[in-house]
Amino acid sequence: MAPHWHEDLMIVPVTDPEKVTDLNALEFQNYGDRHPAQWTEFLKVDSELADGDMFEAIAPYQVEPGEHSPEFPNVVAEVLGRSHVGAPLPYVHRPKMPPPDYLAFYLPFHYYHPDWWGVYLLYEGIFWLAGQILARSNNRVAVRRAFDAARLFLYYHEALHHKTECFAIQLELTHRKAFFKTGFERYYQRTLGSDDCLEEGLGNTSAQRDSWDKLSDQKVDSALAQYIDQSPPGYSQDNAYRSRFLRVRCGFAEDN
Ligand SMILES: [Zn+2]
Repeated sequence: MAPHWHEDLMIVPVTDPEKVTDLNALEFQNYGDRHPAQWTEFLKVDSELADGDMFEAIAPYQVEPGEHSPEFPNVVAEVLGRSHVGAPLPYVHRPKMPPPDYLAFYLPFHYYHPDWWGVYLLYEGIFWLAGQILARSNNRVAVRRAFDAARLFLYYHEALHHKTECFAIQLELTHRKAFFKTGFERYYQRTLGSDDCLEEGLGNTSAQRDSWDKLSDQKVDSALAQYIDQSPPGYSQDNAYRSRFLRVRCGFAEDN
């Protein structure tokens, strides 16, 4: 790994990736109807916040519904483009939707301990997915809610890759063998890009489930279901896995 990959990126720590904005506590509930000039009132209120929170406070109000594809800095895919689960992926399945691992990524501790391991959500990625949620709900989701939903979905998707790594290390501790960098990675690479890739399907299923648990928002849920449905092979398995999540997850553990 090149030591300076992060210098081309601005990294903002997220204090609570599972945070949900209480829409009732905000003065305007439907931002979709508001002109940008009216947002400044909010930004002033939020200006007391710390850097990371400030970033989150401003970003949601820039989201617009849209279909255009996001373009990301190549440095991410080129420098970090390794073969482990959760690695940032190029967007090659157009006109299918870009996968969550193009909009966010996970750096496993097996490779990136102690400095860089963890979940990374690309600003453009959250932004783009939030725009999709707005467009697919015909703007019936508040902008702030769409932003929260996009952040939650991408975070939970990458968290599934972290759980896979945690499962691997449990086996490694008892068997004293390097499973994660060998068998787990080979299995992932062999199936990636096809419907046999249980990991990505499970990632989307658990992300949709966990987002529902946080938001219980029917309009968000059906927008996410549409996005998943139009995703590349493997990623689009959500609807098939949703009713038998535990069974598929057990099968995935056995396969690994
Ligand atoms: Zn993934």
